[in-house]
Amino acid sequence: MTTERLSLAAIRELAETVLAANGCDPSNAAAVARTVAAAERDGATSHGLFRIPGYVAALRNWRVNGAAAPSAEAVTPAFLRVNGDGGFAPLALERGIPALADAAKSLGVAAMTMTDCYHFAALWPETEALAAEHLAGIACVNYGAVVAPHGGSEAIFGTNPIAFAWPRPDAEPVVADLATAAMAQGEIQLAAQAGRAVPAGTGVDAAGQPTTDPAAILAGTQLPFGGHKGSAIALLVELLAAAATGDAFSHEVAGDSADGGPTRGGEFILALAPAVLAGGDSGRTETFFRRFEAIPGARLPGSRRQQRRREPGPRAVDSTLLARLRELARG
Ligand code: NDP
Repeated sequence: MTTERLSLAAIRELAETVLAANGCDPSNAAAVARTVAAAERDGATSHGLFRIPGYVAALRNWRVNGAAAPSAEAVTPAFLRVNGDGGFAPLALERGIPALADAAKSLGVAAMTMTDCYHFAALWPETEALAAEHLAGIACVNYGAVVAPHGGSEAIFGTNPIAFAWPRPDAEPVVADLATAAMAQGEIQLAAQAGRAVPAGTGVDAAGQPTTDPAAILAGTQLPFGGHKGSAIALLVELLAAAATGDAFSHEVAGDSADGGPTRGGEFILALAPAVLAGGDSGRTETFFRRFEAIPGARLPGSRRQQRRREPGPRAVDSTLLARLRELARG
């Protein structure tokens, strides 16, 4: 793969230009571009510029409202409902998170739901935004159904990611952000291209039989990680993102993203103020984290990505992708 090195500012500008040329208004283009550039900064390239053609496809098909004006409504003091106005998630998140943080700081706990919007990114940005306010955050979204429940072979869950962040007074927050599918679909596709078997438990074939053949899984169904336990977490994500928000269940939007863009889905975010809930901590949590970090072979989730964030300078971007984006920038 040949690459070209781009500064983070150039990455953000390119994303913004492409989105603006394909139907995003300035506010939406800038918000999505910030999310994309943050992913490239952290080495999370599968949610960086790589996603822009999918965003564009959804705009060109008029599935997503590029001029969305998300609005936030405080339904109760502890619950904020954000309507995404049929747009991409980043602007809706930017409009909702500050009010969610304020509510959690004063009440100890607050929740936010996001509906009528299209999430196509990682979840660590919203949970990290809460951690930056000294809050713990939990976020989850669902997606078009591609994952069967444990014991079954019919897809009913999306890849249903869930993330949490926990603030630390003098260090970057602890952030875990994981899909509940055993393996990302893109990784299964790569394994199929390479003719490489995938681990048992990744999926089943079209007849519902367990297989390690990636091509057979692509023709069949993916499975959650961790057997019945991961399946239960995928179920929790589905309920929080769909039942608790009032937005679509994954099976209701299956096939929605045939153009390579995002599917519609709800997002559920919970914010907690540990200082309020625990009534003070005296450094106990920090002692716990230090003890964790001292265990040989263990590391806190999020630390690898945060390490990449600290790397200065431009980032390498796939030249083929760049050529495609420059073409899309012409509109
Ligand atoms: P990974 O399996 O790569 O990582 C999951 C988490 O585990 C990360 O927080 C990672 O931290 C941590 N981790 C990995 N290895 C270790 C280790 N050895 N010790 C401790 N912690 C570790 O992520 P997934 O492939 O499951 O998910 C990728 C992304 O895709 C997520 O950001 C998710 O939100 C996103 N996604 C979004 C969807 C959407 O609809 N918007 C749908 C599905 C997924 P670190 O980053 O530091 O390695």
